[in-house]
Amino acid sequence: MSEDRFISPNAAGDEAGIEHQIRPKRLADYVGQPVVREQMQIFVEAARRRNEALDHVLIYGPPGLGKTTLAHILAEELGVNLRQTSGPVLERPGDLAALLTNLEPRDVLFVDEIHRLSPVIEEVLYPAMEDCQLDIMIGEGPAARSIRLDLPSFTLVGATTRAGSLTSPLRDRFGIVQRLQFYSIEDLTSIVRRSGGILDVPIDAAGALEIARRARGTPRIANRLLRRVRDFAQVRADGDITAPVAHDAMDMLDVDSHGFDVMDRKLLMTLIERFEGGPAGVDSLAAAIGESRDTVEDVIEPFLIQQGYLMRTPRGRIAGSIAYTHFGLKPRTPVPS
Ligand code: ADP
Repeated sequence: MSEDRFISPNAAGDEAGIEHQIRPKRLADYVGQPVVREQMQIFVEAARRRNEALDHVLIYGPPGLGKTTLAHILAEELGVNLRQTSGPVLERPGDLAALLTNLEPRDVLFVDEIHRLSPVIEEVLYPAMEDCQLDIMIGEGPAARSIRLDLPSFTLVGATTRAGSLTSPLRDRFGIVQRLQFYSIEDLTSIVRRSGGILDVPIDAAGALEIARRARGTPRIANRLLRRVRDFAQVRADGDITAPVAHDAMDMLDVDSHGFDVMDRKLLMTLIERFEGGPAGVDSLAAAIGESRDTVEDVIEPFLIQQGYLMRTPRGRIAGSIAYTHFGLKPRTPVPS
């Protein structure tokens, strides 16, 4: 991931204190995702009434859409603690055992990037998820023996950008699977206005809309743009965020009218110019723009695909006709395959 990608949906670079302030704490404040919200409201309420742990939840979707936020909200709504870890951090079975044995009944264990769990850790997780049992090996060599511990019932909340990379035994152990969608401009406008209110930033409806339109369907980007536009408004204007101020600020930041930044434009232009619009294999495309395949697939592509700028076909990536129009080019006549 390019460090300098301004609108990167990744969390690195967010000011932690501000992030904590604006992150919604309750389901009622979680904007958009109506289906997810309604379903989770029912499942949480039912678990609470039965005084049981909520079933295990898998949340998937591109970065910055609110997976971590939702996990924290679930714990809050359930009235339990949340312990947080991530797939690559859990190296040895003992790491997971330590977390699991410290849980209190009905707690939430949040595992980010769950598709990156190692196979040995997954093996420990299966009986824990299924029967609240922990099998651990003690000692080494001939003296080694396995002991079984009972765990309190708990809820595993797993988050991933790529549900397809989960092994099927792991995926099958989640009773609830939620896919987060990119947010509409209306929802992003509400998020910007809400964050503006919390941060005490004067912003009018048109200013919020201008930021929302360029946020790539992603709340994290909307909030990040808001913070940068706020800086611009304080230094170059009178502090108020209006549409013209937001517009000038984002021009300066090189975020165009569709929210595309340097990386989006580079990917589309490379596809159009170097690969004649495609089809181009994702590896070749990633190499041509100097990014990893994972970054292209998880971070840059999903929004471009959802908006129709890019198409994923069995023969490779193809630029959509609106991509040509966006850059003021004439769409290529499709070659019959
Ligand atoms: P992910 O875990 O999917 O990468 P996060 O949960 O960290 O994304 O969300 C990024 C930021 O976007 C959060 O800190 C929060 O402020 C904001 N956010 C995410 N989803 C919502 C939402 N539904 N409503 C309001 N703000 C949201």
